[in-house]
Amino acid sequence: MAPAALTDDLRRVVRGEVRFDRGSRALYATDGSNYRQVPIGVVVPQDLDDVVATVGACRTHGAPILSRGGGTSLAGQCCNAAVVMDMSKYVNRVLGIDVERKIARVEPGVVLDTLQHEAARHDLIFGPDPATHNHCTLGGMLGNNSCGVHAVMSQFYGPGARTSDNTQRLEILTYDGLRMWVGPTADDERHQIIAAGGRRGQIYRALLTLRDAYSDLIRQRYPDIPRRVSGYNLDELRRNVLPARDVAAAALVAIGLAVGVSALWRRRTAKPAARSCPSGVIASRPQQRNKDARDSTGWHAQHENVAAMKDVLLLED
Ligand SMILES: Cc1cc2nc3c(=O)[nH]c(=O)nc-3n(C[C@H](O)[C@H](O)[C@H](O)COP(=O)(O)OP(=O)(O)OC[C@H]3O[C@@H](n4cnc5c(N)ncnc54)[C@H](O)[C@@H]3O)c2cc1C
Repeated sequence: MAPAALTDDLRRVVRGEVRFDRGSRALYATDGSNYRQVPIGVVVPQDLDDVVATVGACRTHGAPILSRGGGTSLAGQCCNAAVVMDMSKYVNRVLGIDVERKIARVEPGVVLDTLQHEAARHDLIFGPDPATHNHCTLGGMLGNNSCGVHAVMSQFYGPGARTSDNTQRLEILTYDGLRMWVGPTADDERHQIIAAGGRRGQIYRALLTLRDAYSDLIRQRYPDIPRRVSGYNLDELRRNVLPARDVAAAALVAIGLAVGVSALWRRRTAKPAARSCPSGVIASRPQQRNKDARDSTGWHAQHENVAAMKDVLLLED
């Protein structure tokens, strides 16, 4: 790989910013961890076509790539000797919210709080909420399969605590340039995809082969960890790709291979009326379980434990 030729090619095909100067490389050499890895260079794509162009140029030169959102990762996930693509500056829009279905479509660089702000207009929230919610992006949350302290609501009364649980469909881009949507795929559709062949069919076939060859071993030996930040979610492959027919989870299996997330559809969790309550309220009506029982503050009376949240969510649903 010749960095000068790579830079020239990137400048030719990318409309956004191509920053290979020492200052920019230093700025992107760290994330929220103690690691420091100076990148080859930085691309700030203007849009998704720029992401595709960046990956294409890097592929031509055999350059490694790394997607970056808010850069708040704690274990070095977001710094490497690669061409870093910063999605957070331009590729950061909420493209739409389907209130009826409680699904949002977003670009990968959207900051979680931006999505939450838009969702709040419809009394909705997105379940997973890392402490870094005012900086972290949906793309980065996918990469880390983020959760968060309030995600417990989503764990018990929504689709699940992890970002993967709240992901309906993903558009992914592989290093070899295949751009495709993945999501729930019924048996007959999957057979059609495999029969159609090509790179897409090859990937679906390989996932099935992997599952068939190793599902017993995965079941017996793979650590049963509720949320895995790094490594491959092989247990999702076992659980979801065939039984639940959810290839979006498989895309998260492949996130180390996938180089970008162009858009996401997210399931939504109804917004609770409040997230904390005065202890006096808890003490005065600790066991009340009547949905209609609200006190004068509008706070639902049975907020003494997590179970109470169910009622609040149902009320708002
Ligand atoms: C103080 C502090 C508190 C935290 N609290 C929590 C918490 O409560 N819960 C929690 O889960 N985490 C927490 N984290 C970790 C981290 O903030 C979250 O996981 C956050 O969601 C990461 O988002 P990000 O946009 O910063 O991701 P980044 O750090 O930018 O990226 C994370 C990973 O995703 C990949 N990635 C980024 N964009 C894409 C894309 N478009 N396509 C494919 N891969 C991509 C990156 O390459 C990297 O591997 C905390 C971190 C800090 C510093």
